[in-house]
Amino acid sequence: MDPIALKSEFPILHQEINGHPLVYLDNAATTQKPRSVIEAIKRYYEWDNANVHRGVHTLGSRATDAYEGAREKVARFLNAPASRQIIFTRGTTTALNIVASGYARQTLREGDEIVITAMEHHSNLIPWQQAAKATGATLKYIPLQPDGTITLEDVEATVTAKTKIVAIAYASNVLGTINPIAKIAEIAHRKGAIIVVDGAQSTPHMKVDVQALDVDFYTLSGHKMCGPTGIGALYGKEQLLENMEPIEFGGEMIDFVELYDSTWKELPWKFEGGTPMIAGAVGLGAAIDFLEQIGLDNIHEHEIKLTQYAIERLSAIEGLTIYGPRKERVGLVTFNLGDVHPHDVATVLDTEGIAVRAGHHCAQPLMRWLKVSATARASFYLYNTEHDVDRLAESLVKTKEFFGYEPIR
Ligand code: PLP
Repeated sequence: MDPIALKSEFPILHQEINGHPLVYLDNAATTQKPRSVIEAIKRYYEWDNANVHRGVHTLGSRATDAYEGAREKVARFLNAPASRQIIFTRGTTTALNIVASGYARQTLREGDEIVITAMEHHSNLIPWQQAAKATGATLKYIPLQPDGTITLEDVEATVTAKTKIVAIAYASNVLGTINPIAKIAEIAHRKGAIIVVDGAQSTPHMKVDVQALDVDFYTLSGHKMCGPTGIGALYGKEQLLENMEPIEFGGEMIDFVELYDSTWKELPWKFEGGTPMIAGAVGLGAAIDFLEQIGLDNIHEHEIKLTQYAIERLSAIEGLTIYGPRKERVGLVTFNLGDVHPHDVATVLDTEGIAVRAGHHCAQPLMRWLKVSATARASFYLYNTEHDVDRLAESLVKTKEFFGYEPIR
């Protein structure tokens, strides 16, 4: 895999920011889009655009084929048994909300437990808080180890016979921790619970096989894997999806509508009320083609190497604190530079053309656990190189000199 050659496929990356060549290190927030994805969306709007599942005319059937073809690609990409188990959503947030509203609220009773962790993104935390409040269920947390990992002993101890749902990220967007999902799924199932996996940060970076992991629900966000914004997917086991009531009602999702009652279409369409994100699905399909051509294993290997290099380079900067495990992590490094506020760090880096994230990363409970109000985060993707990491490290040294920081003790 040649990241420099791949970078040439991304038009946006070839520009100067504040007089410096752009180094884009905010990929955990959203990735950039290759030419093939941009072209697929353009071609769709220039040639095929129509509404899906309704028109009998040629454009209508082309648009439907493109949309349903993208669903087939997502199913193959995740190794889902059937494309009817893939629901198109706006992203991971919507997908998790569908499960929390459609499954959790419909099945949980007072005294039931939902088990999550404090490393969850708000998208995999607030829907469960709300479901617990609405049903009388209890929210429980698997404790975090000092390096930001969890142990299987703690999973065994936290998940009980009362637990009905375990909801957890495959990879943390702050710590980079990769959770042992297959083993957690085994524990959850043995105790009679289902497992819901937030795949926003894993799907773009490593090969995912929902059958091998034996997860009940799995989510992804297209924009974090070279696809467009506004499109994502929810995978679910067929029986669970069959038993779930839709949560959005209207056009497209119905079978028969009477004056006082209605029936729903079969899977997956009963969950896709209204006109869907057709061009978004087409773009996501093109993104999957692009990623499959490179190979997810190659992408993962590249990011592991780059992250290890970044950890080495950044650790050498006096007073810089890196959070999260040193090994077994996805391609991001979350850090603080002494007592300099991360927003100031990100602002100075931007003057050097380097884009990093700063803030709470939609993980406020995790910030509290880290005992910080915010952090900076550099996150990598297939087009980043050691040169990008060098630019980051050099600019961080300049930032440190600029602020004359006090190291955090
Ligand atoms: N979960 C994790 C771990 C994330 O990193 C994100 C986005 O940053 C989300 C969920 C939410 O994804 P989206 O905003 O695409 O719905």
